[in-house]
Amino acid sequence: MSEHQAYSFFESVERSFDKAAKFTQWDLGILEQIKACNSVYRMRFPIKRDDGTIEVMEAYRVQHSQHKSPCKGGIRFSDEVNQDEVMALAALMTYKCAIVNVPFGGGKGGIKINPRNYSVYELEKITRRYTSELVKKNFIGPGIDVPAPDYGTGEREMAWIVDTYASLKPGEIDAAGCVTGKPVTQGGVRGRKEATGLGVFFGIREVCNMPDVMEKQGLPLGIAGKRVVVQGLGNVGYHSAKFFRESGAIVVGLAEFEGAIYNPEGLNEEEVFQHRKKTGSILNFPGAGNLAKNTDALELECDILIPAALENVINGENAPRIKAKIVGEAANGPCTPEADDIFAQKGILCVPDMYLNAGGVTVSYFEWLKNLSHVRYGRMEKRFTENLNTHILSQIEELTGKQVSDGERKFIMHGPEEQDLVHSGLEETMITATREIMEIWKSNPAIPDMRTAAYVNAINKVATSYSELGIFP
Ligand code: GLU
Repeated sequence: MSEHQAYSFFESVERSFDKAAKFTQWDLGILEQIKACNSVYRMRFPIKRDDGTIEVMEAYRVQHSQHKSPCKGGIRFSDEVNQDEVMALAALMTYKCAIVNVPFGGGKGGIKINPRNYSVYELEKITRRYTSELVKKNFIGPGIDVPAPDYGTGEREMAWIVDTYASLKPGEIDAAGCVTGKPVTQGGVRGRKEATGLGVFFGIREVCNMPDVMEKQGLPLGIAGKRVVVQGLGNVGYHSAKFFRESGAIVVGLAEFEGAIYNPEGLNEEEVFQHRKKTGSILNFPGAGNLAKNTDALELECDILIPAALENVINGENAPRIKAKIVGEAANGPCTPEADDIFAQKGILCVPDMYLNAGGVTVSYFEWLKNLSHVRYGRMEKRFTENLNTHILSQIEELTGKQVSDGERKFIMHGPEEQDLVHSGLEETMITATREIMEIWKSNPAIPDMRTAAYVNAINKVATSYSELGIFP
């Protein structure tokens, strides 16, 4: 806990929940049940390091809610992992899944390691052992609990998990659905890798297309020309920056833990990524100025600030110095409740994590469905659509006596590939979620911020499924 925070991460999620619960009509008992973490599995297991020494690992899997099955949420590898953090992140997953109508309960896992300090072989042993611990206690499975990537993990770790699970469960036909975020060759879905960043972009774009919201923030409509700062150049930050830039926004600042860089003319995330790979640092990028601390980037002059790294980076101490008009929470929990209060006073719009970064879990849902249905998206309809479109085009040309241009012909004929369907399912999900939350916010002027409106939406949905189930003994 930092000195600027009087309570833990899980308590701060509880505080946000309580703030929103006041705007709902549910019984206290139902609210308490939604808030509580149902199961916490804390494990310790030994690993032999490459130098022959034995090290004891500290790891967790938390299942926050089971009103829908399976539980869902990533696994993070980080030095900062502790029980409170994993509980908070699992709780956010419950609300996140509810908001984007993904039929999962909330879960999260974590191993307290800095992956940079371990060899690939050691990481593989740790991941496989963690998976078998989960199997032993029935904490993983396509109908039980389905992990995914998070901070410090990616496709490689997910491939180890699915392989370990499948080898321990011979004959389980749906084994591939035990984890998402897998490489495409191991049962993954095209479009999962960029999903969280693309979802962040779709969510902010929708907000920027709302005339009343933009008027309130004193900004012109649309994404084009807006100045964006992204903190974190991992999978989420990288792809967020990419989609903003490709849509005409100017990425003026980028930050990684060694520092930050600034260029009012705009930065290209791929060039910066390559520079960092080559030199080992984001600093000294040609044409850009250096900022000594990565948190300095948060205070840059810009329109949209995207914290895409870790929790609690904007708190009571630095929130008064934030100059952005919109803060888009790509990370989980980057702004503390004190920061929320300061934003409300300063008129900064904070677009909350538990819906804005839901693109990852939304596409995880598509991946899980693909695994259970054992068929690639687009396989059944691609050719049919292309044949139909070809026919429509030739009819138009025959009836009008005019020719459609080659570019248009290609575009109109195109039948959907897996990635097209995944991206469009994600776009639809993010637009719907943004509109639902904004409607709730507008319908009750006493709701102080968008986060509270998002929680109200989540609470209503989870409480409805509890009361529909009638599960209380
Ligand atoms: N770790 C991501 C999150 O925090 C993705 C979770 C998932 O796909 O299950 O939302």
